[in-house]
Amino acid sequence: MKLLKNTILFILLTLAFISCSSKTPYTNRSQMIFVSQAEELSLGEKLYKSTLANSIVIRNTKESKRVKAIGKKLALVSNRPDFKWQFNLIENKAMNAFCLPGGKVVVYTGLLNAVKNDSQLATVMSHEIAHALARHGAERMSSSMIKKGISKLANILIMSTNPEYVNIFNNVYGITSELAVMLPYSRLQENEADEIGIYLMKKANYDLSEAIAFWKNMSDGKKQTNELFSTHPSSNTRIDNIQKIINKLKTID
Ligand SMILES: [Zn+2]
Repeated sequence: MKLLKNTILFILLTLAFISCSSKTPYTNRSQMIFVSQAEELSLGEKLYKSTLANSIVIRNTKESKRVKAIGKKLALVSNRPDFKWQFNLIENKAMNAFCLPGGKVVVYTGLLNAVKNDSQLATVMSHEIAHALARHGAERMSSSMIKKGISKLANILIMSTNPEYVNIFNNVYGITSELAVMLPYSRLQENEADEIGIYLMKKANYDLSEAIAFWKNMSDGKKQTNELFSTHPSSNTRIDNIQKIINKLKTID
């Protein structure tokens, strides 16, 4: 019985992997994603609408225009000019920014107090945009689905022979829509977003040394309690990795 269960699991995962593997842009890493791009985009659209509806959106100020201008520059050089990009500044003391699937970007006013110039703001925005370009949200949804799927599959096999377990793979959206915004990114995804972010900054002609300056500033003792820091721990390793990417780009010039 155990052998049969493991064999079925193996076959299911192999089939899923074959049909759902994709590659990240720029870094060319293989990903296992069970969420279709269309589902992902509609999730992003929905969440963005409700986020804006439940927030104080700052419009037509110097700062909101600055956020839109930097965002547009980064979007223009990205691999997804087809996204319906949106960049909004929201009144919130938290030092944070995020990008939902499909290029729906939010910057909190609190972040503006922490960045010293446009290149530093572009550092955070390009990093968040990179998460969306690399479909890290869908990837997180898929991996949590596998975890849930496996335990559900095991239960069903123990309790009955009902083949409904196959549906697990069709239910990603329902199972994990909440988790998509709550789960932190993995270290691998963080590094990847840093790397892709630096590529975007370079293409859009921002000062790359400001990326280092920003993350160094973020690792100051005083700022470690802020939101961005809790999801994006700034360590020497992180700063070293970003420096390596910048050095690599210099040798290509
Ligand atoms: Zn991140």
